[in-house]
Amino acid sequence: MSETRRGLPLRISRAERIFPTLTPAQMSRIAPHGHMRLMQRGEVIYEQGDTNVPFFVVVTGEVEIVSPSRAAETLVTVYGAGQFSGEVSYLSGRRALFRMRVTKSGELIELDRQQMLALVQNDAELGEILMRALVLRKVELVAAGVGDVVLIGSMHSPSTLRLKEFLMRNGHPYSYIDLDRDHDVEKLLDGYHTAASEIPIVICRGELVLRNPTNQQVADCLGFNEAIDQTQIRDLVIIGAGPSGLAAAVYGASEGLDVLVLETSSPGGQAGASSRIENYLGFPTGVSGQELAARAYYQAQKFGAQVLIAKCKRLACDHKPYILEVENGARIPARAIVIATGAEYRRPPLENLSRFEGAGVYYAATFMEAQLCSGQEVIVVGGGNSAGQAAVFLAEMTKRVHMLIRSAGLAESMSRYLIRRIEQTPKIVLHPNTEIEGLEGGDHLESVRWRNKQSGQIEEHNIRHIFVMTGADPNTHWLDGCLALDDKRFIKTGPELSPEELSAAHWPLARTPYLLETSLPGVFAVGDVRGGSIKRVASAVGEGSIAISFVHQVLQE
Ligand SMILES: Cc1cc2nc3c(=O)[nH]c(=O)nc-3n(C[C@H](O)[C@H](O)[C@H](O)COP(=O)(O)OP(=O)(O)OC[C@H]3O[C@@H](n4cnc5c(N)ncnc54)[C@H](O)[C@@H]3O)c2cc1C
Repeated sequence: MSETRRGLPLRISRAERIFPTLTPAQMSRIAPHGHMRLMQRGEVIYEQGDTNVPFFVVVTGEVEIVSPSRAAETLVTVYGAGQFSGEVSYLSGRRALFRMRVTKSGELIELDRQQMLALVQNDAELGEILMRALVLRKVELVAAGVGDVVLIGSMHSPSTLRLKEFLMRNGHPYSYIDLDRDHDVEKLLDGYHTAASEIPIVICRGELVLRNPTNQQVADCLGFNEAIDQTQIRDLVIIGAGPSGLAAAVYGASEGLDVLVLETSSPGGQAGASSRIENYLGFPTGVSGQELAARAYYQAQKFGAQVLIAKCKRLACDHKPYILEVENGARIPARAIVIATGAEYRRPPLENLSRFEGAGVYYAATFMEAQLCSGQEVIVVGGGNSAGQAAVFLAEMTKRVHMLIRSAGLAESMSRYLIRRIEQTPKIVLHPNTEIEGLEGGDHLESVRWRNKQSGQIEEHNIRHIFVMTGADPNTHWLDGCLALDDKRFIKTGPELSPEELSAAHWPLARTPYLLETSLPGVFAVGDVRGGSIKRVASAVGEGSIAISFVHQVLQE
């Protein structure tokens, strides 16, 4: 291996997995998948921001990967003979994060996206080496904050937290500059003709400056959706990239279906809001929801499924093939549909709740939110498993966790292992029969009032952070009367649909709906959005996987 200078601070053990050197025999297996290409010293093979960038294996010579910026280039890494370029999001055709330039003339093997997908799917040994390296590179870039985006914001700004979560959960590396901590930030802002009052500011590829952008504007600026054809008829469109939608995507794409997933925000769904899932099969020490989601997301991409970051706003069910109307204006035709839109957290009816969302009120308890309240007192509201997990996790890095529950105890609503953990954690103080009465503060939450329903006693505490984990309602409002729902607005499927409901829905077929099929033929519902579902990651994943066998049957009808 040639001597390499790397901009990424990597441990040697990881460096070997992230930047492996292929053997001549392995390279000769790759060559027939693509074509050979000569390269000359100084030549730029691709530029930061290019789309549909091919994969390159260096046969002879050397290339460098650099991050260009206004001031200077930063070296990210160097690839010599036997090494290959790219990171995992190139599998979905996303824009290049860096520039690749030739430092020693030689020869490359070039593979386009389809050729690369065929290689990783069909050659088990190379598939493992390549996928592992591409995923680990992405993880390393995210951890080191090396990428094509700079976010300038403040710990006290809810929109900064929103954008951090959006970039992190979409696995997009970014560097963060905090207005309150970095004294040179004024100079940077002047350079881009922006003011501190306009934060958060997102600078894409050193050029485009977005002032307090929406998530969709950031997705557009970074080209998350550019490589995706939004007009072609798909075998299967999945709405929602939580555990159930991602499972359907992995099974559907791996079994040869042309799969598109629509996701409002970022892959992971509710599971992505969990710090540690301990009851999912195969993870004896637990796994963070975001890690589980990221792994599933990359797995779906490996099999060729595409994920469009955009909200589905309507199902045109009177049209065949069905049409999914997306918030960005696209109308996507689908032969079969899996609805995996899950549920959305319930907001307690408190007068000024929305004012403090992201500024003291949170609906997720991951490392990102925990950093904001390190060493302080916090409140967790709710008595279910998600609240229990949040309390145990937050107790590790906060001063005290007040757990407010409406009922008299946890036994009915929480798994035994979590109750035991809570009992064994002195930092967690349980307040049964208790409800929040009011929130006070300026730009940030400053104090909270709660009331014991039995004694009527009201207490006020100077606490700046509340984690609300009080259950969720189904995301079915966008269905606009297309499907039969139960009285809580969850989607009815299979044997749950009565003959009367099927006749009211004008069910047109001689057969009855398959398991997980809704009152509309070829439209399935899986996971938390489905009436009667068990609200767990494993059952969501199971349903998403099972639905695919029925999708195949529908596509043959
Ligand atoms: C904090 C927390 C901790 C948890 N811990 C555990 C645990 O330890 N073990 C366990 O088994 N379960 C746990 N759960 C429950 C588990 O996460 C859920 O049961 C599971 O995520 C359900 O998966 P899903 O795919 O059905 O839906 P969701 O996870 O809700 O995903 C739905 C997805 O659809 C997207 N979406 C919604 N509407 C649209 C639209 N119109 N267009 C496009 N996209 C849309 C959403 O953005 C979301 O990403 C926890 C839940 C929470 C909130």
